[in-house]
Amino acid sequence: MIEVRDLRKEYGGFTAVEGSSFTVDSGEVFGIIGPNGAGKTTTLKMLAGLLEPTDGTARVAGYEAGDSEMRRRLGFLPEESPLYEEMTPLSYLQFFADLYDVPDHVAEERIHDTLDELDLQHRDRQLGDMSKGMKRKVAISRSLINDPDVLIYDEPASGLDPLTTNYVIDFTSDLSQDGKTIVFSAHNLYHVESICDRVAIMNQGEIVAQGALDELREEHGTTEYHVYTT
Ligand code: ATP
Repeated sequence: MIEVRDLRKEYGGFTAVEGSSFTVDSGEVFGIIGPNGAGKTTTLKMLAGLLEPTDGTARVAGYEAGDSEMRRRLGFLPEESPLYEEMTPLSYLQFFADLYDVPDHVAEERIHDTLDELDLQHRDRQLGDMSKGMKRKVAISRSLINDPDVLIYDEPASGLDPLTTNYVIDFTSDLSQDGKTIVFSAHNLYHVESICDRVAIMNQGEIVAQGALDELREEHGTTEYHVYTT
């Protein structure tokens, strides 16, 4: 479903991502973990077609990153979602449904279903008055508005309290049970351990290891493995 080959990104003279390659099968959950500045966001943005690679290719469902059909099949959750503070969750989600040409009756059902599943209360409150966790739930709902096959989530649990973190991780896990292909990034091994089929460990712009978590633990030893993942 996803094929990334020798992806590289330079900002000026600085190389943020150095030749990343990985594949993700349909229905798989693939985690990218690594410390601040490792290149996770840059990789995910190139994969989502939001950032032009300096070199290399990223394909989703056979389409080149950025292709309009690929965008239709993709849901992207940025680490910090730009939300329009004076909108309510309902008006915000309807706005994105219109952008994706989702018919009104489908959009209404989809919006209410995802907000119910995410247990979002106070749907008529302005986004500017909502907590970080509530805003993240709205952003997750937005990523699903076009019923995408592929989800790219950049640190979906970052900055959330433990309860909301568990909620988001469990919700992401449920999405994978529904057959979505998911790539998501995290600092924390705990976030990926519970739901990922395979992970890539990034450090200073490079993927230093990838595979199933058990394989990585065996290959790299617990100590080295934890240097990258805690
Ligand atoms: P974090 O966990 O902090 O979000 P990350 O793994 O997502 O980090 P990136 O945001 O991809 O890392 O950044 C990788 C490197 O590229 C960092 O050194 C960062 O400072 C640099 N970088 C990112 N965006 C830009 C930019 N627009 N211009 C210059 N350098 C950038």
